[in-house]
Amino acid sequence: MKVIDHIAQAKETLVSFEVLPPLKGKTINTLYDHLDPLMEFKPSWINVTYHRSETMFKKKTDGTFERVEVRKRPGTVGICAAIMNHYKVDAVPHIICGGFTKRETEDALIDLDFLGIDNVLVLRGDAAKNESAFEPEKDGNHYAIDLLRQVSNMNSGIYQDEDIKSGGKTKFCMGVAGYPEKHFEAPNLEIDLLKLKEKVDAGADYIMTQMFFDNQKFFDFVTACKNMGINVPIIPGLKPITNKKQLSVLPRIFHVDIPTDLSNAINKCKTDAECEQVGTEWLIQQSKELKSFGSPVLHYYTLGKPKVIWNVVKNVF
Ligand code: FAD
Repeated sequence: MKVIDHIAQAKETLVSFEVLPPLKGKTINTLYDHLDPLMEFKPSWINVTYHRSETMFKKKTDGTFERVEVRKRPGTVGICAAIMNHYKVDAVPHIICGGFTKRETEDALIDLDFLGIDNVLVLRGDAAKNESAFEPEKDGNHYAIDLLRQVSNMNSGIYQDEDIKSGGKTKFCMGVAGYPEKHFEAPNLEIDLLKLKEKVDAGADYIMTQMFFDNQKFFDFVTACKNMGINVPIIPGLKPITNKKQLSVLPRIFHVDIPTDLSNAINKCKTDAECEQVGTEWLIQQSKELKSFGSPVLHYYTLGKPKVIWNVVKNVF
């Protein structure tokens, strides 16, 4: 079932989770162990992130170095199929522009369609680790909106190969990313919102947000979207803070602020267990307020912390 239909049919706030594919070499059971306890909350769907390959230099026996492309977390498509098969719950693969030509993307979308996966979260992806700024592949999509248009075309039976006339129509429900605290490359929030509106006007069915720790930022973002004429559901993305390192890592990587009250409380903690307790309580309060606000869904980034998420969801739903 499509995300948008889950939301339309919901009588109350839904819950959804996001997982990373296991590191290469780990089995699918790693993922099931992670998800099993969370299935008690009957998530409406589970998102699976996509991780592009990284350039690495491996030392050869003769002492020279060989440049290799390594994908540490492959398997997004297979994991989505496994989740749907194992748990009978919808899976939402993240698809990105980076590292793919449009034809390769088309083939991946055909696989998803054949597997009965009719949801995608459409993203640009970040710059590769060895690039200072995002570079699309030659013949690849540059911005998320370009990828969105490609998926939308396939939903209308239009393929890259112009020889395909009256092609089969896929039926992907398309989510896109939104940033309550602005995407780091956008010159200002207004331009970022205009770009977001373009994605919605091009057919995005809903927006899923970057994590945030101050609900007011999300409420302001929702208001700004409404004022701009963006009327699709906006799903808050939520993540717990569980250690002191994250106070600097999260702002650096995800370009989000940590509220003073939260950073002060974490800084006072003496152990990771205490940090986890503070982060859990903060996320419970955030979640309760977002639920009262009428958020259609609370989407949790579980990222290696299923126990924390379990505690949060148990207290909120
Ligand atoms: P876009 O919407 O293309 O925007 C990128 C930037 O370009 C923005 O600053 C925007 O304002 C600007 N822009 C957009 N269109 C134009 C245009 N036509 N001209 C000029 N400027 C433009 N990354 C992964 O690699 N894998 C994942 O699984 C993943 N999951 C994510 C899930 C969520 C919910 C979120 C919020 C992010 C996720 N990301 C993931 C990270 C995401 O790929 C990065 O944040 C990336 O830098 C931007 O992606 P986007 O889809 O928002 O890009």
